[in-house]
Amino acid sequence: MTLPYGSLSTPGVFRSVFPAFDVLPLVFDSPHSGQDQPADFGTVASKEDLAWTADSYVDDLFAAVPATGATLIAATFPRAYIDLNRAPDDIDPDLLTEPWPEPLQPTRKTRMGAGLIWRYCRGTDTPLYDRKLSVDEVRGRIESYWRPYHEHLAGTLGALHRRFGFVYHVNCHSMRSVGIANPQEPPRARPDIALGNRHGSTCDGHLVGWLETAFQARGYAVAVNDPFPGAYLVDVHGRPDQGRFSVQIEINRSLYMNEETRLPHAGYGPLQHDLAQVAAELADCVRDRLGADP
Ligand SMILES: [Zn+2]
Repeated sequence: MTLPYGSLSTPGVFRSVFPAFDVLPLVFDSPHSGQDQPADFGTVASKEDLAWTADSYVDDLFAAVPATGATLIAATFPRAYIDLNRAPDDIDPDLLTEPWPEPLQPTRKTRMGAGLIWRYCRGTDTPLYDRKLSVDEVRGRIESYWRPYHEHLAGTLGALHRRFGFVYHVNCHSMRSVGIANPQEPPRARPDIALGNRHGSTCDGHLVGWLETAFQARGYAVAVNDPFPGAYLVDVHGRPDQGRFSVQIEINRSLYMNEETRLPHAGYGPLQHDLAQVAAELADCVRDRLGADP
């Protein structure tokens, strides 16, 4: 039986798929798996080098989400164009042709070349640009890509929260199998699954513990708030005291793809199957909570 689905999209920006009936207060989003390059990107990086910045296939790995009763929102533009998981003032002033008119707050990520507008792809030896970007150019990316995605995600979470009194948000990513969390540390191998709730501020330990157990039961090594505690998206949407629960999931890319060729390998199908099961079980938990709430 094919369930009826609804969908919304802004071409080139995002796509949202949700059940037409009985939608649950459960939203998955994939901000870094888009591949449609905007015409005004103006990057000097090759498509292959750009792919290194992407959470490749994450939207497809979670493709079963709408069948569970939850909503799946995915960006369709590349993360290297503008990063949805950064604040809009997390900009490196050295990238710009002129001063930004308002105060900027560049973070550690920007200093590593990976702020709102990335400086490099594939390590620090492959620049994305051979030029500086104008303030108007960056503003255009914020207003035409960053903001519509955030407004759609916030609107979806807000509408579900108003209707049900609570909402769960699962922010989906993938990570290199070996990497550095900050420049002072040597590279280290990463777990299969890294969950992040910013050390408890974006959702309670119950949801994180539930996910940890669900993945461990399927044989995955899980770490919590290490090496990634979660970034902007869970930070702005997670308000556990208000019934808004946001958790970040990072999936080790070596579980599903060859990190050199960027092509899926034999692990892709089994991982996709496991993610579908975890999403379905989480959806059942949300249904149980709906049934329990007066
Ligand atoms: Zn990501």
